[in-house]
Amino acid sequence: MLLPRAGGVAAGPAGSGRPVPGAAAGAERRTGIVFPLQKLERYLAPGADTTRFRLFQPGLAALQRAEALFRSDRGHPIDYVSSAVRMDHAPPPTLPEVCFIGRSNVGKSSLIRALFSLAPEVEVRVSKTPGHTKKMNFFKVGKYFTLVDMPGYGYRAPQDFVEMVEAYLQERRNLKRTFLLVDGVVGLQKTDHIAVDMLEEFGIPYVMVLTKIDRASRGVLLKNVLEIQEFVKENTQGCFPQLFLVSSVEFSGVHLLRCFVAHVTGNLPTVEAS
Ligand code: GDP
Repeated sequence: MLLPRAGGVAAGPAGSGRPVPGAAAGAERRTGIVFPLQKLERYLAPGADTTRFRLFQPGLAALQRAEALFRSDRGHPIDYVSSAVRMDHAPPPTLPEVCFIGRSNVGKSSLIRALFSLAPEVEVRVSKTPGHTKKMNFFKVGKYFTLVDMPGYGYRAPQDFVEMVEAYLQERRNLKRTFLLVDGVVGLQKTDHIAVDMLEEFGIPYVMVLTKIDRASRGVLLKNVLEIQEFVKENTQGCFPQLFLVSSVEFSGVHLLRCFVAHVTGNLPTVEAS
């Protein structure tokens, strides 16, 4: 799939130098799908600082490289590896790793399914039955990195769950980045703050991902983005200053998130990820 560079202009017929009628709108829509945060920029007050909207702004080559990483084939298998409830059951920490955490129902399984949509054989397991043990699920992306789906947390998270997540975050030495999912419709909740406090206390790098953005009106989304950006700026040390916005239904932000995962696991040439 060919993706436009941010702000790219749709070219007209070869050599004409004229834009194709309607192509600008198409290009704008594609830019919104790939860079949903940038799409919000134009609704900011004039003169607003937009640095935090564009810190990670990969070009086409990097987006394509990430897409190839997430596409399985015979020489590049993408597999569910195993589940674990204890750290000594986790696979050996041989590859760079990223993990996804968030409240139950935040859209974590849907997002991981969207990230792995180019590897349809990958089964993202969901265990939502109350009382069932929640597990960490490990996925291996070829010889490049592992991705961990952590159990969802909530008000009634059992003690063993808290201990499992804490132990993982503190001990996993190949962990390159934690992706903390926050519902884009309701913004940061009390339980999200507990997760932020935990990540800050452990001093590990993380990034916030706003989910379900197709369900939030533009006004609500902008308010949540600005509030969370301010919170990150004023109250955090380990959080990447740029938020990632995703919709697993419309697929917006998924390509960029794949690219960021590829970047933090050391799988993008640095020159392309700037
Ligand atoms: P999890 O508990 O965090 O794994 O959440 P799920 O992925 O199971 O999603 C919880 C609910 O939110 C389900 O009903 C999903 O269909 C819905 N959902 C998840 N992601 C999106 C999204 O991007 N857009 C919309 N509209 N709904 C979503």
